[in-house]
Amino acid sequence: MNNLFDLTGKTALITGSSRGIGFYYAKGLAQAGAKIILNSTNQGSLDKAISLLQAEGYQVSGYVFDVANEAHVVNAFQQMDESGYKIDILINNAGIQHRQPLTELALKDWQRIIDVHLTATFLVSREVANRMIARNVGGKIINIGSLTSEQARATIAPYTAAKGGVKMLTKAMATEWGEYNIQVNAIGPGYIATEMNTALIENQTFNEWVKNSTPAQRWGTPEELMGTAIYLASSASNYVNGQIIYVDGGWLSML
Ligand code: NAP
Repeated sequence: MNNLFDLTGKTALITGSSRGIGFYYAKGLAQAGAKIILNSTNQGSLDKAISLLQAEGYQVSGYVFDVANEAHVVNAFQQMDESGYKIDILINNAGIQHRQPLTELALKDWQRIIDVHLTATFLVSREVANRMIARNVGGKIINIGSLTSEQARATIAPYTAAKGGVKMLTKAMATEWGEYNIQVNAIGPGYIATEMNTALIENQTFNEWVKNSTPAQRWGTPEELMGTAIYLASSASNYVNGQIIYVDGGWLSML
């Protein structure tokens, strides 16, 4: 029987993959056989991540660019074209957080969060989809939502609006690109123990709230998102399009 989850011969770009969950999406797809292209805004941390995966025997390269900057994105794709990269799988994972009540929030802070999560998902996907369509080979795009794609939490309004937008942009992309055999789906992680959440993990009240709100009674780990990423990147999900899969220890199912 063919291995439905085999990614041998595929090339995957994972944005925001120098650390955190993105690094583990990259590792998971590499384990399934894909060649990996990492990305972040920092050359030093990118080089470190490349070395870590290369040391495990995987084929890995990386490009520094700000996913929210159109000129950076277009330029990076020109460089990838010149180097002969043909992307079959994209994970739009890069992300940042900014915590402040809406009444105090400056427009530039609102805009930056919307840009990095929502606008960047459009910008990078546009470049990838145009190339997939021109090659006529289909492909997989995986966007990253959150529990806030469904529910709000005080002090993170722009993040909540952006992640709600990512859910609907996923459906819009699936609708436009399905005829080209491109499947666009999203992963909605619950609370995952990464650098982005260090302050929350160290805050005892918040930590208890997360554990008590999760049927699994604990934070998730980045490794626990790898399987869903492999599934959505592989032929196992070829008739799945426009969906968001929550990997949240059951959070959204519990009152
Ligand atoms: P993280 O540990 O802070 O890592 C974020 C990654 O994105 C880093 O590699 C960072 O590298 C990169 N990055 C940030 N801004 C970028 C930009 N403008 N262009 C390119 N790369 C950029 O975050 P994480 O917790 O792994 O989160 C990853 C994704 O999962 C985000 O979309 C987040 O919203 C989502 N998510 C996380 C959780 C969670 O509990 N952790 C839950 C739900 C959803 P540089 O800073 O060096 O550029």
